[in-house]
Amino acid sequence: MISQTQAGQLYEAQKAYFDSGATLPFSFRKTQLKRLKKAIEKHETRILDALHKDLHKHPMEAYSSEVGFLYEEIAYILDNLKAWMEPQVVTSPLVTYPSSSRIYRQPLGLTLIIAPWNYPFMLLLSPLLGAIAGGNCAILKPSELAPATADVIYDLIKETFDPKYIAVVEGDGGVVIPTLMTYRFDHVFFTGSIPVGKKIMEMAVPHLTPVTLELGGKSPCVVDEKVNIKVAAKRIAWGKFWNAGQTCVAPDYILVHQKVKAELEDALKEAIISFFGENPAASTDYARMINDRRFDTVASYLSQGHIIHGGQTDKATRYIAPTLLTDVEWDDPVMQDEIFGPVLPILPYTDLPQAIQAIRKLPYPLALYVFTNSKKTERALIDQVRFGGGCVNNALVHLTNPELPFGGAGYSGMGQYHGKYSFDTFTHPKGMLKTGTWLDVPTKYPPFGNKLKLLKKIM
Ligand code: NAD
Repeated sequence: MISQTQAGQLYEAQKAYFDSGATLPFSFRKTQLKRLKKAIEKHETRILDALHKDLHKHPMEAYSSEVGFLYEEIAYILDNLKAWMEPQVVTSPLVTYPSSSRIYRQPLGLTLIIAPWNYPFMLLLSPLLGAIAGGNCAILKPSELAPATADVIYDLIKETFDPKYIAVVEGDGGVVIPTLMTYRFDHVFFTGSIPVGKKIMEMAVPHLTPVTLELGGKSPCVVDEKVNIKVAAKRIAWGKFWNAGQTCVAPDYILVHQKVKAELEDALKEAIISFFGENPAASTDYARMINDRRFDTVASYLSQGHIIHGGQTDKATRYIAPTLLTDVEWDDPVMQDEIFGPVLPILPYTDLPQAIQAIRKLPYPLALYVFTNSKKTERALIDQVRFGGGCVNNALVHLTNPELPFGGAGYSGMGQYHGKYSFDTFTHPKGMLKTGTWLDVPTKYPPFGNKLKLLKKIM
């Protein structure tokens, strides 16, 4: 935990370091990204062990979604950073002749990055890559609910960077963040829940600090009648039960065309058994709920609707089996809040407009998935529903493409990151127009006389 005095000292040290200009050069940023990669490589085994301790994540799952993901992102940024940092030349209007215009990407300064517990390593360090690439200083706040991972992050960052450049502050977010946010950060990047996101925004108001909010929501998964059901079921089950459903972009519920509902249910059961066996509690590939509070919330959904697969729980190990629910109503609690666990409600629809209408009654989701062979269905959902991003005939994987912006809409968040979008989020686009002095067109100067006619011709 950090005291107010310590927070002030850290803030002032980072401010002085940023003001020294040390973080600005391309060579500096490139070196820091490479150092971070080396540090992650060095601590890789400890990171994977910590993720297993906190979430029972299999090393394959932990590597791909937390560590490998960052290696890919670092490589992509290193390949492109020089070009992104170049001032971008744009055209200039005739009225400004003889002028040229450029957009300079300027570092923001001091940034605060706050992460949740579900991908506790990646969701803290992925925004950090953007902060480093953008030439900023950063204070990192890992989730206290994944303590083993928070400890590795603390050690890794402490031995890699001077705290006046990048520092980690551990502890209860409800105490640490308000302490830090009494100071003016140039940007706060928050990933977490909607209620805490609102608090972050409130704390940012007095300083007019811009915020990126990466939040959650109920991400629908629409399964059309015209689709390969077996493939759809496998991809949905994989996306839903990855990290035991504790993924912000996990399919929250399925809306399936009534004609293929029974077929999809059978295929989902088959997929679950093929992934985790008849008893997923014995599978090394299946994660656990992060804590008792989350266990209780997700387990409470099992009393709603009708369980057609799974439903077993073990409170001592915080195990909830991959579960399929049918016969749920839209006003059941399981259809009100983001489930964030391995319970998958399946609701039928009879025609697409009805499905779209149902989705649109809920707040804009973070993701939407549609499984269909029909271009018309695909476009109808993309065009008529507002959501952060998503996939056609797949789940989760849109966020592995650094060319795509990742972020929410409405209650699922504001702002984007990944790839160039991270760089843009952590820099200010400064527009500059430069005019030659060899010619000084007199049109704009008074006395105006009858210059209006000429101006109308130019504009
Ligand atoms: P959370 O909002 O409880 O916590 C997130 C962070 O905020 C933690 O570091 C915590 O210490 C801090 N915090 C907690 N209370 C605070 C307070 N009063 N003031 C300031 N900071 C505080 O979220 P969580 O439970 O860790 O994560 C789950 C949520 O995160 C889900 O809703 C999920 O959808 C969302 N999420 C979103 C994304 C995304 O990329 N959009 C990714 C992962 C998780």
